[in-house]
Order: sequence, then C-alpha cells, then structure tokens
Amino acid sequence: MLKLWLFALPLVALAANPPEWSRPFPPHRIAGHIYYVGTEDLGCYLITGKSGHILLNTGLEDSPAMIAASIEKLGFKLTDVKILLTNQAHFDHVAGLADMQKMTGAKVFATPPDAPLIESGGKADPSGFTNYKPTKVDRILKDGDLIQLGEITLKTIHHFGHTPGSSSYETTITENGKKLNFLMVNMGSVVMPLTSPGYPNIVKDFRATFAHQKTLRPDIWVATHGSQYDLKEKFRTKNFLNGASYQEAVADYDKRFERQVKIELGQ
Ligand SMILES: [Zn+2]
Repeated sequence: MLKLWLFALPLVALAANPPEWSRPFPPHRIAGHIYYVGTEDLGCYLITGKSGHILLNTGLEDSPAMIAASIEKLGFKLTDVKILLTNQAHFDHVAGLADMQKMTGAKVFATPPDAPLIESGGKADPSGFTNYKPTKVDRILKDGDLIQLGEITLKTIHHFGHTPGSSSYETTITENGKKLNFLMVNMGSVVMPLTSPGYPNIVKDFRATFAHQKTLRPDIWVATHGSQYDLKEKFRTKNFLNGASYQEAVADYDKRFERQVKIELGQ
C-alpha cells in the first residue's frame, strides 16, 4: 500500500500542473538585448551580451529542451549562457535548473534564503510542496548586489514573501536610442499559509516587498508567469512598453495579500 502511494504521488503532482506550463511559446525579443525563451506561461528570460548571456528561470523538468530550442532559434549559443538566475525556488521555475546547468556549464546565483532550497531540491522549502533535482549554488546574491557579465549589469532586489528568498532583477536597456528601465519582477502572490512555522517572517517580508515594489517605476516589466503581465497580448501586438500597468498590478497583489492576512490571521 505504502509503495503504491509513493509511486502515485509524482503522477498526481504532474497531473496538477496547468498544461500551459509545458506548452512551447514562440521565442522573441522583448526589447533591447532581452529575449523571451520561456514556455506558454513559465517566464524565462535571456539577457544577452557580447561576453555571454544570463538566463533567468528554467521552468519545469520538461522545460530545458524547449528553452534550449528557443535560445538556438533566436541565433544564440547555449554554451554562451554563463549565469543562471531564478526569481524564486519553486519547482515551476527551478525544476529545470539542474539540467540547464549541465547543458550550459553556467554558474548558478541565488539569494541567501533560496540557495538552500535549490541545493536541497526543495526539501528545505517551508511550503513543502516543491521538489526537484538539487543544484549547487555558486554565488549568493545580497539585496542590491550587482550581477555583471561584460556590458550587462543586473541589480538584485530581495522581494521575499512568495518564497523565503524570492527576488526581482532590474536593468537598463536601450530601445530605439532611448534608455529604459527593465524590471523582471517576482509578484507577491500568496501560495503558502501565512502561519507556516517554517517561515515566521512571511507577513513582515510580504509587507516590505509591496512597500518596495510600489517605489519602482519600470518602463517595461515582465514576471515569472506570462499571464501575470499579459504575455500573449504583448506578443500579439508587439507592444512590450507596459510600465503604465505596473503600479496597478502591484496594488492588486497587495490587496489580495491583505485579504488573506484578514482571513488567516484576523488582523
Ligand atoms: Zn511560486
């Protein structure tokens, strides 16, 4: 009986994933030197440069082949990916990390709280619902740390709450001769109980994240899930200049979080 149950568990987990997480999506340039290489809903971003590229997020275990095909279709080489990052250590954004690391030979960078999750394959995750192949983390990213690769500079921003170490990355791109602020944001959706004993600072972290996210003024923003920034519509209209919708999106996540605080904590 126990054996049967253990066998059935991964199948149940697989069946629960939305199909759009595993459907391919046309790779495309978003703006400047940043490209979309994710699946239909799992946002993966290639920040390209003459000295190599940075890949943000690696999707599910079945994503690396699709991501690799997208990178090559755009005319870039997989072995030119030198750094792998993630917005958060949930399985839908890092289960492909181990295989992608092997395919590229790239270094893996992560925030202090997300590094042990990645290195334990999700076992250290207080939400307990995430598991994937472990990957060694080569560099720990503190809040404000700059990630530099040739002419690319990304700023690490700790946006904890969604996971204990979820983060966003900010950079400047040039589009039609204009310098624009480009934000790859981890939106603060609540997916684990706010009373989780393994994450006592969760409410405090979420509030600090929303307070900080409200100070940002991106010209272009993208997120861990394509649906969070209307990827399909942006791709269809080829209009990625969506800065005007950012404040409203953050306020909406903040509202949903505070509603959840009331429900769970009665505050
Ligand atoms: Zn998540």
